[in-house]
Amino acid sequence: MSTRVRFAPSPTGFLHVGGLRTALYNWLFARQQGGSFILRIEDTDQSRRKEGALENLLEALEWAGLDVDEGPQAGGKLGPYVQSERLEIYHRHVQQLLDDGHAYRCFCTPERLEQLRDRQRKMGVASRYDRHCRNLPPGDAEARAADETSIIRLAVPESGRIVFEDIVRRKVAFDLETVDDQVLLKGDGFPTYHLANVVDDHLMQVSHVIRGEEWLPSMPKHLLLYQAFGWEPPRFAHLPLLLNKDRSKLSKRQGTVAVEEYRTQGILPGALINFIALMGWHDQSDQDIFGVEELVQAFSLERVQKSGAIFDTEKLHWINGQHIRRLSLPEFREAIQPYFDTQWDVTEAMAAAVHTKVSLLSDVPDLLAFFFEDPVVYDDDAREALTGAEAAGILSMLLAKLDESTDPSRAGPSTDLSGEWFMSTVKAIGEDFGLKGRELWHPIRAAIAGRVVGPDMITIVETFGLEKCRERIRAALAAA
Ligand code: GLU
Repeated sequence: MSTRVRFAPSPTGFLHVGGLRTALYNWLFARQQGGSFILRIEDTDQSRRKEGALENLLEALEWAGLDVDEGPQAGGKLGPYVQSERLEIYHRHVQQLLDDGHAYRCFCTPERLEQLRDRQRKMGVASRYDRHCRNLPPGDAEARAADETSIIRLAVPESGRIVFEDIVRRKVAFDLETVDDQVLLKGDGFPTYHLANVVDDHLMQVSHVIRGEEWLPSMPKHLLLYQAFGWEPPRFAHLPLLLNKDRSKLSKRQGTVAVEEYRTQGILPGALINFIALMGWHDQSDQDIFGVEELVQAFSLERVQKSGAIFDTEKLHWINGQHIRRLSLPEFREAIQPYFDTQWDVTEAMAAAVHTKVSLLSDVPDLLAFFFEDPVVYDDDAREALTGAEAAGILSMLLAKLDESTDPSRAGPSTDLSGEWFMSTVKAIGEDFGLKGRELWHPIRAAIAGRVVGPDMITIVETFGLEKCRERIRAALAAA
């Protein structure tokens, strides 16, 4: 049987990193096995519908590089792939369950159910349906259904155990006494998640269901549905929860959860994929940096861990830095373009100067801004460096050297100011003043770049050339 997996999100408006992890594990498994990766939209909860949700989702998956073989946009033989377009299929299947006695009509009003829940709450027992309508004669129920609103429930056996083998969690067992008579079809004619999910996984010939651990409690209901239909269930793998650093469930309050926000922050798609892949899975070598092809080779469901996976933003930034360094210079230049909102002409030399220094692409514009500012804006550290005791002396001396020098090495091959000449000139000034390190360099950096840290000085002075360096030093002296 060929490997067919699916990512089955409810379109809530954005792709959550937890959703991306589920999508990724499914995609990696499909690619590794030469199988198919299906996208199915589970939009049966009409109250949660959001305009544009599908478009956002497709865009996020495309950005992450997770190409879809079958889905609402990709098409495929076993569609439609949007559940709200499959209502007739669910009605047919639920009718079969009614006919076979695996499901029944329930006429209880929302008010009655609310009272029941209230009573159960007061008694301190778990809230569940009391099976009030379960024994209505089917003929009577059908007759009533002609002019009364009803829902359809699964007739869960009153006792017994359901046991199954999860690829991640191994043997899992549930006592049926604790399982509610699950609603399968709601009053508005839409199926619940449980019915639609099982029917679709079967009809779409899904071989492996890989999804978050929060769906594990649904397993007895799903397995009962497979039994009721007489279908062979797929294999299941439930992925560990994603946790904040304090081990609470990953939430918006403690950080970013929307994939598109990571894109805005300047995380490379390959880096996010690399990081997310490690949220619950490690290969034998404990390697940290993976290209996507390496992940396809190395991934295995058997090595997915049971315990919760901590979402460590610092690690994400570190991994992103590593991926940034792996880009070629032209690739890096292209990757940073969208983060500039001004029309700056970032040269290859400028890009090279920050290539190995950043861990977020969105930090680049700030780091390069001083090349384009006119006049340069000093930050606090720069202002402090410029008021140091020797600052004016050092800068005056440097300006004099720049003004006077007839040294032929002053000009570099492609610029009228050689970085090497500049460095040795500053060193000589340092010797005269008995200064080196930050005491010598900070005032100079501050004057020319407006910051005391940043790209290397050679790149800076060669990019600016003689006139610009002189102009900035003069301005710094005037400002001091
Ligand atoms: N629609 C469910 C979700 O939003 C799918 C769960 C599953 O994969 O079965 O995550």
